[in-house]
Amino acid sequence: MSNLYIVATPIGNLEDITFRAIETLKSADIILCEDTRVTKKLLDRYSIVKPTISYHSQSKLKKIDEIIELLREGKNLALVSDAGTPAISDPGSFLVSRVRRELFDSVRIIPIPGPSAVVSALSASGFPASDFLFLGFLPHKKGRQALFEEIKNSKRTVVFYESPHRFLKSLESLGSVLESKRLIAIGRELTKIYEETRVGTTEELLSFYSSNPDKVRGEFVVIVRAL
Ligand code: SAM
Repeated sequence: MSNLYIVATPIGNLEDITFRAIETLKSADIILCEDTRVTKKLLDRYSIVKPTISYHSQSKLKKIDEIIELLREGKNLALVSDAGTPAISDPGSFLVSRVRRELFDSVRIIPIPGPSAVVSALSASGFPASDFLFLGFLPHKKGRQALFEEIKNSKRTVVFYESPHRFLKSLESLGSVLESKRLIAIGRELTKIYEETRVGTTEELLSFYSSNPDKVRGEFVVIVRAL
């Protein structure tokens, strides 16, 4: 049996990694990374020297075949992404699915849990979170408006990821559909130097971010409180 470990890594602060994740990266034969330069910073921080192979959203089927072959040969592989938990709005699920299908009786697929931006942001929001709807990145065009309507009617807290380029646009779209008192939490640059979690109505948040363009930078999680 070989092992494919799905290893969660920090979403910013390099200290946010479990002992088990470090041990797993140290013991794996090869580390599959999204961007080898990003993962190198983490490996250097913990003095881990290992061969790496890049595996990302544009990887060709041939690359996946090579990875499957390594597992067939009995190699233990660790899959990481640039940040957080692989396969959560990240490359990984397609690979895991193929390994499950093709090598189900000869490879153990083992999650090594750790940080994820969705859970970190939700935990600091104070919003109901015993159940929630996670939408990942919203589509840019087709289906986008329908999702805002779904968020408007959601009895669950809704979480999505947003890029700095689309952040204000998304807030405006939320402002145009949500009831004016509905609360939103923004988790920005979590675990990093300029980390902040800000809660308010769309009007309050739009006013704040429009007058503080220096805060429309970095990485964002947007959370809309349950109805
Ligand atoms: N796999 C990752 C996870 O488990 O959270 C998510 C990767 S996804 C490609 C990257 C998006 O996650 C960013 O655009 C942002 O929306 C969110 N994100 C990642 N790190 C973050 C951070 N430190 N603070 C806020 N949002 C973050």
